[in-house]
Parts: sequence; structure tokens; C-alpha cells
Amino acid sequence: MEQLKTTSEKPNTDQKRSIYSIQFTEMQDWLQEQNEPKFRATQIFEWLYQKRVSSFEEMTNLSKELREKLETSFVLTTLKIVTRQVSSDGTVKFLFELHDGYSIETVVMRHEYGNSVCVTTQVGCRLGCTFCASTLGGLKRNLESGEIVAQVLESQRAMDEVEERVSSVVVMGIGELLITMMN
Ligand code: SF4
Repeated sequence: MEQLKTTSEKPNTDQKRSIYSIQFTEMQDWLQEQNEPKFRATQIFEWLYQKRVSSFEEMTNLSKELREKLETSFVLTTLKIVTRQVSSDGTVKFLFELHDGYSIETVVMRHEYGNSVCVTTQVGCRLGCTFCASTLGGLKRNLESGEIVAQVLESQRAMDEVEERVSSVVVMGIGELLITMMN
């Protein structure tokens, strides 16, 4: 992996929570707090994970009021695509910018038996493997769950273009998963 570049050392603490960090039951609870029926959670999750919309505005079977509440409470797009490179063997390599300016990489590997997305779990890494440039700047922070889920969704959007699906998720991008889980 190439060395990470950072455009900011100061995280944006005003950032709204990623909707991809919300579990289904949490969404039901949130809807109840908004005096909305719990079944709306199924509709919202279908828009997020089956139709893979890129704005709340596209969730057209929800009321305008509910869409505005979602917009006020959550952020939907947490990753900005800086570059997307496609190799001759079909491998897709993303460079994403996070909300606080840090950058991460995600790779979609194409195989005869399916497509694997290799997700990143941390910005930088403190493990210090001597062959790896990703560790040179040390560990900056762990990724939020929504940022990891968003990598899979962006990868699936790329596979949508060729009418294929991501069939497996591999946690071997930048960062050491076990350390992420222990922190
Ligand atoms: S654990 Fe992975 S990302 Fe971290 S230094 Fe080693 S090879 Fe690099």
C-alpha cells in the first residue's frame, strides 16, 4: 500500500453520525423517538443497502418531513472518491477522503469465483511491519463502523456498473483489525 497522505490533522468533531453506523434496531428506536412507525426502518434499509441511494431525497416512499429529519440527524455520504483506478485485470482501487481530511484506500479484487473487497480499518497503522509504507506516519485513528460499511457500498456501486456483486469482504487493507477491535 502507498503511504497515506493527510490533508488535516484536526478531526471534524461536528460531523453527524454516518447512517451506515446505525443498526436496524437502533433505527427503529430512532424512528419511535421521531413519532414514526417502526416499519419505516425496513424501507430506509432497503434504500440504503438494496437500492444504494446516494441521497435521502431519493427515498421517495418516505414523507418529506422524515427525509428532512434523516438529513438533519445523519450523514449518508461519508467517503469522497478522490481517485478510482481500474487495472487491466479488472481490479478497482479507490482512494477515499474521509470527513476529517484523512485518506484511505479500498481495493476490489476480481476473481473467477467472485469479487472481494479489501477494506481498510484504520488511518495509518502502528504495527510497524518493516515492508509497509502505511505504518510510516503511525496510527492516526480507527475508522468508524459506518466508514468501513461505506467502503463496501462504494465497491458494490462499482460492481453494479458491470452487473456483478461483491461476494466477500476481506479485512486486510490498511490497519490491523485485531488492534482496531481491542481499542
Ligand atoms: S499490519 Fe498491515 S497496514 Fe499495518 S504495518 Fe503491517 S502490513 Fe502495514
